Amino acid sequence: MTEEPNDPKCVFCRIAQGELESERVLEQDDVLAFRDLNPQAPSHILVIPRRHIPAVAKLQEGDGEVAGRLLLAAREVAEAEGLEEGGYRLVVNQGRDGGQTVDHLHLHVLGGRPMRWPPG
Ligand code: AMP
Ligand code: ZN
Repeated sequence: MTEEPNDPKCVFCRIAQGELESERVLEQDDVLAFRDLNPQAPSHILVIPRRHIPAVAKLQEGDGEVAGRLLLAAREVAEAEGLEEGGYRLVVNQGRDGGQTVDHLHLHVLGGRPMRWPPG
């Protein structure tokens, strides 16, 4: 991996390190989930790798396991939130046009209301 495991300027690295507060809902060896500060749905949780991976576009071959763990963690979070029956949406924003604002890979878990399609 070329990136540093943690970037001191990165807000999600700081959350992972416990330097910034967050409401954590799931903790695993490689992956962490916490509530979004500005929720767009009754349940809005972010799932991140603990290691600083800037974006989907920066994923490398060796990142397959952690990428899969993000999805499995999202499923666990959704179940814990009681979203399994009603359904939910998983979102990963990539780059400027994708609406990415934090350059640390994260998967949004959104649920508790009907989602529209197509997204804006
Ligand atoms: P994105 O636009 O996909 O990069 O999503 C970044 C998300 O991070 C947004 O939904 C923000 O509300 C959320 N966010 C930014 N800072 C924090 C923070 N300190 N704690 C929790 N969520 C945050
Ligand atoms: Zn980071």
